Amino acid sequence: MNITVVGSGYVGLVTGACIAEMGNTVYCVDVDKEKIANLKQGILPIYEPGLETIVSENHASGRLHFTTSLSEAVEQSEVFFIAVGTPPGEDGSADLRYVLEVARQIGDHLTSPAIVVNKSTVPVGTADLVRAAVAERLEARGVDVEFSVVSNPEFLKEGAAVNDFMHPDRIVIGADNEHARQVMSRIYAPFIRNRPRTMFMGIRDAEMTKYAANAMLATKISFMNEIAGLCERLDVDVENVRLGIGSDERIGYHFIYAGCGYGGSCFPKDVKALINIAHQIDFEPKLLQAVEARNEQQKHTLFDKISAHYGGNLGGRTFAVWGLAFKPGTDDMREAPSVVLINSLIAAGAKVRAFDPVASDTARREFPEAWFAEEKLQIVEGQYEAAIDADALCLVTEWKPFRRPDFRALKRLLKTPLIIDGRNQYDTEQIAREGFAYYGIGRKSIA
Ligand code: NAD
Repeated sequence: MNITVVGSGYVGLVTGACIAEMGNTVYCVDVDKEKIANLKQGILPIYEPGLETIVSENHASGRLHFTTSLSEAVEQSEVFFIAVGTPPGEDGSADLRYVLEVARQIGDHLTSPAIVVNKSTVPVGTADLVRAAVAERLEARGVDVEFSVVSNPEFLKEGAAVNDFMHPDRIVIGADNEHARQVMSRIYAPFIRNRPRTMFMGIRDAEMTKYAANAMLATKISFMNEIAGLCERLDVDVENVRLGIGSDERIGYHFIYAGCGYGGSCFPKDVKALINIAHQIDFEPKLLQAVEARNEQQKHTLFDKISAHYGGNLGGRTFAVWGLAFKPGTDDMREAPSVVLINSLIAAGAKVRAFDPVASDTARREFPEAWFAEEKLQIVEGQYEAAIDADALCLVTEWKPFRRPDFRALKRLLKTPLIIDGRNQYDTEQIAREGFAYYGIGRKSIA
């Protein structure tokens, strides 16, 4: 099949490359000229395990094309995936301007029957807006081309995106006609040969499914962080509680880790968008508001612990930060807890030396240039280098190399043997034996 994927970010590029890998001809379209020029030379805009290989192989084989011109792609394609961003607007609502712009462009160029598939995460009812936007432009051109709009939300996880796309838990397809269902089934058949997992439903149901999935996962995290807050004040170790409740198969172990809050481009944005959707229909989303509020507070917890330890005097101190990405396996720092921590430390007059295995370049773009010039913030190339003469080590992202560090080396390097563990990675007894002071999340501290 000939397929166009509009938007070449985490979702679009992975979708395009994986669909090309299965023998389809795919046009990846993006408005970002530099991104497309780089992709043509095999330079990827994002870090995702396994992505570089399939992008370069499929590009070399002539199945995967990159272009800034939707019109060039339109003539060749029968299916259009929209995979552009839907960032939060000021009121938290999903900003649909990019999605609708793409829909209008499709309408401007479409000449033969097509299926327009919305993969971006969008509020219930967006398919109707997409349909209207395409139709309006077709009408303006005075042409009558048949097209369907399908909702096909994406469930891949950053850091495991290629694997998730290749081996999906489920494919959700919201469609209102048999032809669209059949075409979508043909596209996804190679990915689910051994595990047929396609769920057909109404278009609005599919749109809601994506928000409900992310809101559920965010709820589990905020729930556990709330329990951690109780544990911390009641002399209970939340890690034991986690093991104790996770063993109940109705609860399970996934997503019940206490920590310094969730970030990323999806959970914060999608919970906010769902709250906004609720408000628009005069429904008070009490639980979702609490999930969001708990998370906002949780992102400040590491700074609060450091500040309390040093009696509020952080001026002139230096702190080592391990992990900048919002989670391991990605270079994405959108809404990352590390950003909240670093901003707070620098605002309090401290300096930060940070290390992340892959997010260094993202971090250099994230923070003000002046901070680097004035050495308020340094991004270093080694995890132990970050610890040199620091007044504490703060673990923010649980990358694997941080899990079993050389504690002796750390103790030698740090000015003060203090560890703030935002992901409960360390065994408190071992930490005590090694002679560190320690604060985790929802567990006893070692002063
Ligand atoms: P992204 O920001 O990484 O990529 C979006 C891309 O779209 C950018 O490269 C941008 O230049 C391009 N773009 C914007 N307007 C365009 C236009 N008019 N024409 C062509 N290209 C255009 O975003 P992402 O993380 O891939 O997310 C895309 C959507 O998928 C969002 O709705 C998001 O909520 C959803 N989603 C994301 C993930 C994830 O893990 N990142 C997972 C599931 C769903």
